[in-house]
Amino acid sequence: MAMKLLLPIAAGGIVTNLFDVLFRYSNELRTIVDRFTPSQGNMCENHRIFVHAAGKNGVVDPLVLACTLVKLNDCRMVAALSDVSQQVVQERRLRQAETWFATLLDNVNDFAVISLDRHGNIDGVNAAAAVLTGFSQNAMIGQSLDDFDPPERGSASYTALEQMAIAQRDGWHLDEGWRQRDDGQRYWCQRLVAARSEDVVASTRVISGYTVVLRDVTRGESDSTKLKELLTTDHLTGACNRAHFFDLAERQRLRLSLQGQPLAFVLIDIDHFKDINDQYGHAGGDLALQSVTNLCRTLLRTNDIFARIGGEEFVVLLPAIDLEAAIATAERLRIAIAAMPLHLADDVVHITASFGCAVLSNSAETLGGVLEVADQCLYAAKHGGRNRVEPASIFVECPALEDSNGVQIPLAKL
Ligand code: GH3
Ligand code: MG
Ligand code: MG
Repeated sequence: MAMKLLLPIAAGGIVTNLFDVLFRYSNELRTIVDRFTPSQGNMCENHRIFVHAAGKNGVVDPLVLACTLVKLNDCRMVAALSDVSQQVVQERRLRQAETWFATLLDNVNDFAVISLDRHGNIDGVNAAAAVLTGFSQNAMIGQSLDDFDPPERGSASYTALEQMAIAQRDGWHLDEGWRQRDDGQRYWCQRLVAARSEDVVASTRVISGYTVVLRDVTRGESDSTKLKELLTTDHLTGACNRAHFFDLAERQRLRLSLQGQPLAFVLIDIDHFKDINDQYGHAGGDLALQSVTNLCRTLLRTNDIFARIGGEEFVVLLPAIDLEAAIATAERLRIAIAAMPLHLADDVVHITASFGCAVLSNSAETLGGVLEVADQCLYAAKHGGRNRVEPASIFVECPALEDSNGVQIPLAKL
């Protein structure tokens, strides 16, 4: 074994003196021996000798020997040599990983890293997190993330609990929106929440905590705001578009089901809209659509979402609103639309709209399901004479009818 290690590195293939062979790589070995004064004992233990750093083709493949020298008496010693190249590679990888994490945690100011325990309390923060949020690292430990990095009031941004709930289901969740520093200054923040899980028994994984990465992307905000606007609004009316509406509605469904709150939907369809187009042209119809949008938006709360989901069809999403309040809102919109004068050509025209209302109050209900109910109500409003509001209760609270013998009449026969 000694010859296998030494022959390839010995000059001229001659191995007669250990110190001569190793001198090129470790000239300090002789000094170690010379300086050792006791008559016996360990002169060095696992002293590393770096024979070469790189292998063929530049591939890093070091050869590192560990040398232990034991002095037996004044004229005899034993040398033990072993190849520790693989161990050195492992150590270097570990060091690189540690340095990488340490750099990420301490020096990269663009990324703030916060660790949460499985209940959502902060149990670790890097220096950049303190810079980004304006709070000291000590002040953050043990507190909830929402105390330090709250979404702006009235914004559609997620709370930490909501992001944790999604991360628990999907592994991670990325949100973007305005947030506020300690001094009240706003910044556009990208916030990633990733669940950390542990293998408990074979395939069962439990969440042990969460890693949160915050990034201040305020500089790129103006471009992304424009792009966001293009992607989320209806170009004709400026209302929220169909795709964005479903995205927001799903967010609200998740949020409110966590809080056990209802979510109301009001579907709106303009009555005999084809007649407006026929009489005043497409541009006249467009003006009517814009006017209805502007009017409705002024009558709704900032948290309500008004979207155009079809040609002359709109939907209003009313968070934390029950059916009764949704009907009241729909009535308010109905009356305002009917009273709105539209100046088309030389005429002052009045239009009306029909409304269907439904409420999602159970987390098991789907968005598609509640919208279908609202659509059935809208259909009923059209058939009931238009310019009216029909709530979902007409379907669910229909009293059972009985015949003269007190037997219930099946719905199919009605
Ligand atoms: P109802 O009372 O039953 O709802 O009748 P309606 O005429 O409103 O409904 P219908 O579905 O028959 O007609 C809708 C019309 O809306 C037909 C279509 O040409 C028009 N429309 C769809 N999108 C636009 C648009 O962007 N601009 C304009 N001006 N018209 C549109
Ligand atoms: Mg329609
Ligand atoms: Mg219509």
